[in-house]
Amino acid sequence: MRPLVATVDLSAIRHNYTMAKRCAPGRHAFAVVKANAYGHGAREVVTHLREIADGFAVACLEEAEDIRLSAPDARILLLEGCFEPAEYLRAAELGLDVAIQDQRQADWLLACDLPRPLNVWLKLDSGMHRLGFAAESLRQCHARLKGSVQVAELNLISHFACADERGHSLTELQLERYAALLTLEFDNCSLANSAAVLTLPQAHMAWIRPGIMLYGATPFAELSAQELGLRPVMTLTGALIAVRDVPQGESVGYGASWVAQRASRIGTVSCGYADGYPRTAPSGTSVVIHRQRVPLAGRVSMDMLAVDLTDLPQAQVGDAVELWGAQMPIDELAQACGTIGYELLTKVTGRVPRHYVG
Ligand SMILES: *Cc1c(COP(=O)(O)O)cnc(C)c1O
Repeated sequence: MRPLVATVDLSAIRHNYTMAKRCAPGRHAFAVVKANAYGHGAREVVTHLREIADGFAVACLEEAEDIRLSAPDARILLLEGCFEPAEYLRAAELGLDVAIQDQRQADWLLACDLPRPLNVWLKLDSGMHRLGFAAESLRQCHARLKGSVQVAELNLISHFACADERGHSLTELQLERYAALLTLEFDNCSLANSAAVLTLPQAHMAWIRPGIMLYGATPFAELSAQELGLRPVMTLTGALIAVRDVPQGESVGYGASWVAQRASRIGTVSCGYADGYPRTAPSGTSVVIHRQRVPLAGRVSMDMLAVDLTDLPQAQVGDAVELWGAQMPIDELAQACGTIGYELLTKVTGRVPRHYVG
């Protein structure tokens, strides 16, 4: 078997969920498990959290179908609502909560004959300008939906654009626009993603929506997961599958971009960009072998990458290589590649087996 595995520590997810709840005492939480639980395996994560989580949030009906099997009784919120009229019937059968982010979705809902009413989350576009109603249209939609037979709870939801940048002026504005709608009657309100859960208590409302923090990565550029008290969840571990001596002046890998400045010992690792390791990782990026950091040497290939073992003479074929995890924070790798932990986690590909512990 190819030596590459993504180990997922379920007890760390539980710890991080509990931490989100402690940040917002007395509030409920939708654990955000869209995109296969940010690459960690939605079924396993939901099965592990179902006893303690108040609910789950996903991007679409297909994702909800999948996790409903693992959490028969939990609240499950469709963050983008339904994409076609027929989905409302299925949403009602599955007992989902649905966002309504535009007039079209509201019209579809009001034209439905449903077996039971749905909890509806009216989405306010408070400033991100991605989804949601402007304030005045939301007021009109509220009046149309209030008391209609298709609607059980009528709730308010919105989403921050810049909560990960502390003190950003747009966040203040979004909070004000949200608060201005609270003169309407809502059963429940929700606004906070992970960044707001961690730093904006005034945004917690009735339901928080932590995503990335559950998976032990930081939403902030300036504040590490460790500083936040989050525990890393995924460890991506490969192995050295070849080791060779490379004379000074010889190059390593595609494009011959890395050239040995000294007689070097080069290791080949069983992980590449087709596994989700970013091809944009520059030479010098760290991986960890025998608890010691060693640098990438040359370009990442599809199935392999090379590391410079010259300063780790005891390294040998078969040794484990941590690409990210507790010793090599995923956020550090992401930063080196000009991206964010979210992207790296969601891009671990299907050929990497997930192994669950804890
Ligand atoms: C993905 C998502 C979240 C979770 O965001 P994190 O930054 O991962 O905590 C919350 N709300 C909405 C609407 C989302 O799309």
